Amino acid sequence: MLRIDCPCCGPRDHDEFRYGGDASVIRPALDDADFEAWYRYVFVRKNPAGLHREHWQHVLGCRQWLIVERDTRNHAITSVALARRPPTKKPPAKKSPPRKSPQ
Ligand SMILES: [Zn+2]
Repeated sequence: MLRIDCPCCGPRDHDEFRYGGDASVIRPALDDADFEAWYRYVFVRKNPAGLHREHWQHVLGCRQWLIVERDTRNHAITSVALARRPPTKKPPAKKSPPRKSPQ
């Protein structure tokens, strides 16, 4: 059994998660008409013996998507991170000088 250390919920059994596929695959641009690029994106996957970056979703917990780095030879998990960084606070916008009223 895998234990995935969710950054939001802590260590949980993998039964609470859903595998979401290879996290190293990058989708081509939507306007990319290269058939080969889309074919590779949809159908071609590596099957590495070693470290593999994977998407997992904590479906029975916080529902966050995670990137889990797992060794496929022994299932040892070396890192877990949120797939999308939480929004950061934006600095306050600078105020523009007041407009001069037309005379
Ligand atoms: Zn969670």
